[in-house]
Amino acid sequence: ETALDAAFFVRWMTAAATVIDREATRLTELDSAIGDADHGTNMQRGFAAVVKTVAEGEPPATPGAVLVAAGRQLISSVGGASGPLYGTLLRRAGKALGEAAEVSPEELRAALDAGVAAVGQLGGSAPGDKTMLDALVPGVAALTTSFDAAAEAAGEGASATVPMQARKGRASYLGARSIGHQDPGATSSALLFAALAEVAK
Ligand code: ADP
Ligand code: MG
Ligand code: MG
Repeated sequence: ETALDAAFFVRWMTAAATVIDREATRLTELDSAIGDADHGTNMQRGFAAVVKTVAEGEPPATPGAVLVAAGRQLISSVGGASGPLYGTLLRRAGKALGEAAEVSPEELRAALDAGVAAVGQLGGSAPGDKTMLDALVPGVAALTTSFDAAAEAAGEGASATVPMQARKGRASYLGARSIGHQDPGATSSALLFAALAEVAK
């Protein structure tokens, strides 16, 4: 079974920053339809800060430490709702990994599962509310199969937010007018899984 070390997690965060940079305009366009047109720039700023912290300085020694540092950085550098939510996801997952030098894909899945539960608690949200959880929950569930399956499931989860009416976040202010647009946070969550699948190859 594959062992994932701290360097793997640094590569994941770096790949995430790259794909977010590439898709930032699209994320902001999605957020301009049902939010305040800042999701792309929020995520860009946050993940640029994450890369600075985990890849450009002294790298954290364990997988858990990489995720905790990344999560803290997102919380402190992103003003929007997505900063504390993604920050909580990564920090909680990092804490769940503890101090192990290497973790298995199953340990990563369980840790992300704990992180996703913490997001739902912080946001008072659940799948079906048209949020990042609609991509995160199926993505994490499919990690039992493979990283590729998780990326695919998260992408499908993001697409499935199109017909939903938002019940949480800014998009919920639009009521029924939020229907017909893909949720920006679910879209960026799918990108995080795409980055994970890419670095696992
Ligand atoms: P803001 O809405 O503060 O401008 P962003 O635009 O960066 O923040 O992020 C918006 C995304 O955050 C939404 O598309 C949604 O996926 C996610 N989100 C907002 N509120 C919640 C919540 N309560 N629970 C889970 N996700 C949420
Ligand atoms: Mg926004
Ligand atoms: Mg905002």
